[in-house]
Amino acid sequence: MILSTHAVVGGAIASLFPSDPILVAVAGFASHFAIDAIPHWDYPLRSISVGEGADNRRLRLNRDVVIDLICIGVDACAGLALAMWLFATPSSAWVVSLGAVAAILADPLQFVHSIHPREPLVSLQRFHEWIHSNRKLGWRLGISSQITFAAVVSSVARAFN
Ligand SMILES: [Zn+2]
Repeated sequence: MILSTHAVVGGAIASLFPSDPILVAVAGFASHFAIDAIPHWDYPLRSISVGEGADNRRLRLNRDVVIDLICIGVDACAGLALAMWLFATPSSAWVVSLGAVAAILADPLQFVHSIHPREPLVSLQRFHEWIHSNRKLGWRLGISSQITFAAVVSSVARAFN
């Protein structure tokens, strides 16, 4: 899933357990794998590779890399902002951002693995690839289904609050 969707799910988890940051961090991190198992759409990257066989050790800063970094940065920041807007209260803001960051974390760890393939990243990467759905949706259905999914998750979480 895209980082924004992961962040909203992490924020939703945090809103359910705002006084338990360790649970939020663990459950947020685990949620990444659970929702990556659902067939979805991911935006294509031009230069940075992720997933099976990804090796970014020869990556050099160029236009395509900068465009990828902007896409990833906008996606992550939009997700964090959305999670805060939907779930944060003055007292829970930091736990909500913790949940959102924990839920995103597995993807940057894929990048770290692609330049530094050592344990425990090797096992984590193997698990991530194994659980990640092989069914790729087209972008239209992919975008609308992720918006719907994030909306359903946030209404369920808000109903419990
Ligand atoms: Zn992932």
